[in-house]
Amino acid sequence: MSAERPPVRRRIGVMGGTFDPIHNGHLVAASEVAHRFSLHEVIFVPTGRPWQKVGETDETDGSHAAKHVSPAEDRYLMTVIATASNPRFSVSRVDIDREGDTYTVDTLRDLHAILPDAQLFFITGADALESILSWQNWEELFDLANFVGVSRPGYELSASHLSQHLEKLPPETLQMLEIPALAISSTECRERAAQGRPVWYLVPDGVVQYIAKRRLYRPLRNNSSRVS
Ligand code: ATP
Ligand code: MG
Repeated sequence: MSAERPPVRRRIGVMGGTFDPIHNGHLVAASEVAHRFSLHEVIFVPTGRPWQKVGETDETDGSHAAKHVSPAEDRYLMTVIATASNPRFSVSRVDIDREGDTYTVDTLRDLHAILPDAQLFFITGADALESILSWQNWEELFDLANFVGVSRPGYELSASHLSQHLEKLPPETLQMLEIPALAISSTECRERAAQGRPVWYLVPDGVVQYIAKRRLYRPLRNNSSRVS
């Protein structure tokens, strides 16, 4: 009688973000987690309407309010461009094709339905970790995926309010990982582009070119090609 090996569950990273624009900090985080956690693939998931970021915006005066978010198709295409050269990276439209605000629990439910046999690892930076786990039902989140919190310059890596629960959960449930520190944010990339300052080497070359071609982040009155 031959002993059959259980099928190996595919280990899939999930990197959620607004990606407005995607930058090298996101890519380094995904690459490092993929390596350290022996992931087969990392799926980048641009948000639809990120509920934390959608606020009162006035697009009529041409100003870019802090909470303005670029069209989902632009953020999706920049994410595709940025990840295209890495055979282990892919991009999912689950969040941008879903109506309404984006919640991590919906992202994970949808990916779980598409990839029922995969073990999901949700990757999140130190700034977003605590809020995801405190604003949403962490018990359900942990049923759907393991979480990997990665370091980010300027933020403390912790999920302090969960510490008493974590001891009772399997060790893979939530892990913290120190990654190469890149002090880059999309906010700063947007500000630089708006002021005509370079974003070269902060974002992949193709994304620099896409931002210029679509005139993203420029004041709207100078932006004739923008579709609202
Ligand atoms: P914004 O300034 O618009 O909030 P951002 O740079 O924070 O943009 P997001 O799209 O909000 O980028 O982040 C997506 C995910 O990537 C989050 O989990 C965030 O914590 C993580 N992340 C972003 N930048 C870095 C970085 N430089 N190092 C580590 N993690 C990062
Ligand atoms: Mg952010």
